[in-house]
This record gives sequence, C-alpha cells and structure tokens, in this order.
Amino acid sequence: MEENTDLFEKIINLTKRRGFVYPSSEIYGGFGGVYDYGPMGVLLANNIKNHWWKIMVQKRQDIVGLDSSIFMSPKIWMASGHVGGFSDPLMENKKTHERVRADHILEDIGVIADEKMSIDEINNLLVSNKDALKEKGINIDDYTPAKKFNLLVESNLGNFTDNNDEPVYLRGETCQGIYVNYKNVFDTTNVKMPFGIAQIGKAFRNEIAARQFIFRTREFEQMEMQYFVKPDIEMSEYEKLKQYRWDALISLGLKPENLKWHKHDNLVFYAKEAYDIEFKYPFGFKELEGIHARGNYDLTQHQNHSGQKLEYFDEETKEHFIPHIIESSIGVGRLFLAVLCQSYTEEAVGDETRIVLKIPKNIAPIQVAILPLSKKEELSTPANKLFQDLSDYFMCQYDETQSIGKRYRRQDEIGTPYCITYDFDSINDNAVTVRDRDTMEQERIPVSELVNYLQAKFK
Ligand code: ATP
Repeated sequence: MEENTDLFEKIINLTKRRGFVYPSSEIYGGFGGVYDYGPMGVLLANNIKNHWWKIMVQKRQDIVGLDSSIFMSPKIWMASGHVGGFSDPLMENKKTHERVRADHILEDIGVIADEKMSIDEINNLLVSNKDALKEKGINIDDYTPAKKFNLLVESNLGNFTDNNDEPVYLRGETCQGIYVNYKNVFDTTNVKMPFGIAQIGKAFRNEIAARQFIFRTREFEQMEMQYFVKPDIEMSEYEKLKQYRWDALISLGLKPENLKWHKHDNLVFYAKEAYDIEFKYPFGFKELEGIHARGNYDLTQHQNHSGQKLEYFDEETKEHFIPHIIESSIGVGRLFLAVLCQSYTEEAVGDETRIVLKIPKNIAPIQVAILPLSKKEELSTPANKLFQDLSDYFMCQYDETQSIGKRYRRQDEIGTPYCITYDFDSINDNAVTVRDRDTMEQERIPVSELVNYLQAKFK
C-alpha cells in the first residue's frame, strides 16, 4: 500500500488545531470511531453537502429530495438482508484483544476476500496465506479464527421491557428510507419514470476496526441518490450516472489525477454492475463513492416482505413492472477528507514554511476575512461595519487579534481565499487591501466595489 503517514499526521493535526475535526468525548478519554466537526468543519461539511444537493436535486428536473428518519421498522432491515447478512469477518488477538478485519489484512497482501465468501472460505484463505501475513507482521496463530460480525447498531427505542428482545436498529445506510418511500414520492409528486430520490443523512455501522481518521467511522453521513428506471434502460442510465458523478466531483474541485475507477469483480448475486470512484488518500487509493446497478432486488424484497405492491404501471406500454435501481452513494466524511488531503500545501516563503489549505474557493469554510490593522476604534468601527455589510453576501470572519502576519497565517491554514485589511489609509481613501490566498498578491480595492469584485472571484 502506498503510504504517506507523515503527511496524514500533519493533516490530522491541522484539523484539530484549526477547529475542523475533534475526537469525540475527548475530556472523557475519547470514544472510538466517532468524531465531532468543529466550527470550520461544520462550514466545510455544509458546503460539500450543499454542492451535492445542488448537483443532484436543484439542477435536475427528474430528482427530488427526501429526509427519512434514522429509526425505522426493524422489518425493513430484515427485508434488506442486513439483519442476516450485513457482516464483516472479525478476528481478535488472543492476548491484546485488538480486533481486525480478516478481509482487510488479506487485502494488504493483495488477496481479495469478497462479500460472497463463506466464513470457512475466508479462514482457509488466512491459513493458505499464513507466511505472507507473517511477513506483514500478522501471525494468525495469535488470533481467533475469523467469525462473521454483524455491523447493524441496535437500540431499545420504543422497547420498554427489561431485556431488549425486539431490538430496533440505527439505520446502516440511508437508501432503505428511500426504497420504502418510493411509492409515497411517486403518488404525491409529478415525477415520471425514470426518476430519482436523493437524501443526505446519518448512518451507523459497528465497524470492527474504525481507522484512518474520518475515513472509516461508526457514525457517518451519507449522500445517496437512488434512480428508478425501466429495466431496459438500466445500463444506459447507469453509464450516464457514472459520468455525471465523476463530473460532479471534478466540479467540486477534485483533480482527475487524484481519482480513479475501480470495477467490482465479484458482484453480489443481484447486482448488474458496480464501480467505485477511488480517491488518492495519503494511505493509497481508497473508495470514496460507490455507483451501482442493483437490478430490482431492493423493491422486490420490500414488496415480498411488506405484502404491498411496489410495481409501476407504464401508461404507454400498459406494463406492470418493479423498477430497477441505480444508485450513487458517497460519505460526507470521506469527501471532506479528500478535499483536505488534496488542499494541504506547504510552501517555502523566504526562510519560513507557509501551510495553506488550497480548498476550492467556493467551498472554503470562511470566504472572506476582515482584518483591521489595529484594534483602535478608528479602525475597528468601520471594519466591523464592513463585516456586517459583506456578511450579507459571504461567510466572513472578523479578526483583530495578534499581528497581521499571524492572522494571515491563520487564515491560510483554514483556507480563506480572501483577506481584507482595513488600515489607516482606508479611513481617508475608503479603499482596502485584498490579499489572495494562493498568489499572496495584494490589490487595493474601493470599498464601494468590494462586493462585485469578490462575487466575480467566486463565480
Ligand atoms: P467500505 O468497503 O470502505 O467499507 P462500503 O462498500 O461498505 O465501504 P457502502 O456501503 O457502499 O460502503 O457505502 C457507500 C459510501 O458510504 C462509501 O462509498 C463511503 O463513502 C461511505 N461509507 C461507508 N462506510 C463508511 C464508514 N464506516 N465511515 C465513513 N464513510 C463510510
């Protein structure tokens, strides 16, 4: 695996230092696999989500939004196969009790243990690759044999008995909420096949080895779009969706050289085709987004288990059929991490190293910083007014602490594209200095032209 641990550590440190991401429950010693988004993080995550919503809903006549609940009838998770089959192969170190995923340690030596394999087949693979695993520092004799571990997170919501014998589940993916509402959406809006339903929301999985910072967490947010089609156009629509999603990631600001397609070789039995878009993280190319052609499996399962008809009637051909589904699914955290990894830059400026997050300008947490040269009232009063005026248009931050150099450095580290300095000349000439994050060039701009000037920069 290609690794750049040093770079990754630097990025993790910066996200903590500058209020992007905090470990959960830190004052109580932490809580594994869960993270909190700080003041900068929530802004960046919201911008990422808004960009996705704009591309997937606002710019599409054929896609509508939904916000289904996190808790649903447990029957949904039985129908979807999650209660019986949503599991990963778990091994535990007999001495240290460290838990690892058997498929991940095999993947590290280039051996693929796919979802279709039985636990016996995986254990056989572990034994036959014992020597190669040992070379990687894993002695399988130190571990228990692999066993299937279900990833669904249980809760006692609505259960008032002493033993939680009828557990409900925190949703393991957002798309089931879409499938079970497909009829509602169809009956209450004017959508016509083919159409899509998009949703952003939290999902929960008891990941065995939550690792690589926010790449794999136990609580995370997904952005999913399920597109309902007639069977005969499933694959042509699938090709269109693949291209559309690739273009969407590029339009967000990811560079094509940091992305690549990965085709699934071993498909689950119902799937027609599955590709992931992988991003080049410091720990190698890994799944960022999945785009899958799922056939009619999902709605057939829900029709069979609920006893409700989920067929579509085609007025033109007078045919009844269960729609086929193509989906795109991407984690907010994984995209957030991709943006940070791509943006992190160290540049030599004179004798110093400048750390700058070159976040695509339109999704930067703070767009414009207003920095009066001194705290004196003659500057702070008009600079505060400038903050009020500009914050009608842009996400702004006002900062009058420390030297201007230190303030520029702080803004560079949170990726603010434009810093505005209000100085003593500004009082007379009613103009300010605008500094560009990437070029560090400064321009003098009249206050009356600032909004237009900045709007043109963000276009
Ligand atoms: P992986 O193989 O990495 O476990 P997956 O194939 O199980 O991922 P899906 O079930 O297809 O993932 O989920 C769709 C998307 O949700 C993924 O592409 C990823 O962006 C995101 N995602 C899935 N699991 C996690 C997680 N534990 N933490 C953060 N994001 C996740």
